[in-house]
Amino acid sequence: MATPNHSRISVVRGDITEQSVDAIVNAANSSLLGGGGVDGAIHRKGGKSILEECRQLRAGHYGKGLPVGNAVATTAGRLPARWVIHTVGPVYSPTQDQSALLSSCYGESLRVAHELGAESIAFPAISTGAYRWPVADAARIAAWAIHSAQLRVPEIRLVLFDDATFQAFHRAFNPT
Ligand code: ADP
Repeated sequence: MATPNHSRISVVRGDITEQSVDAIVNAANSSLLGGGGVDGAIHRKGGKSILEECRQLRAGHYGKGLPVGNAVATTAGRLPARWVIHTVGPVYSPTQDQSALLSSCYGESLRVAHELGAESIAFPAISTGAYRWPVADAARIAAWAIHSAQLRVPEIRLVLFDDATFQAFHRAFNPT
């Protein structure tokens, strides 16, 4: 069931691995086998069972890896969340417009969360770390993608690790 305009959206500063929500989103890479940043923190704190499920996904439907802009769920191991939704952001390119793929990460993650029956979801600032997307632009794309998503969940939380990223997301989600 679509729930347009009825999500409660908040923007907070914090660590995504500590969020007590049904689903947290991982800024993963296509391999699904771990990396740095959010990905490293999720696997470090969530324990081996998440990586084991990711390996099974690679052995099955995602033999070539998870395509950029797609999302897939696993359970969340020892984390307070119930599920981790892994999505792969695009690497920022100054010459190619990849914004549709970044926006797809938010839309697809919300679709997967909705299908799981999640009531709440937390997102990090996808692509703004190792993938180098300029933060103000990434924040605007995130706000647009979440506001225009067809399928949503009742509570959507943006969780930003550092102050500059938090400020950029706060501005994008609370335009004056
Ligand atoms: P990507 O490869 O998609 O750029 P990263 O994980 O490198 O993903 O970074 C995405 C954003 O997440 C960056 O703004 C980074 O500072 C932030 N980040 C890193 N660790 C955490 C964490 N534990 N919780 C929330 N955000 C985090």
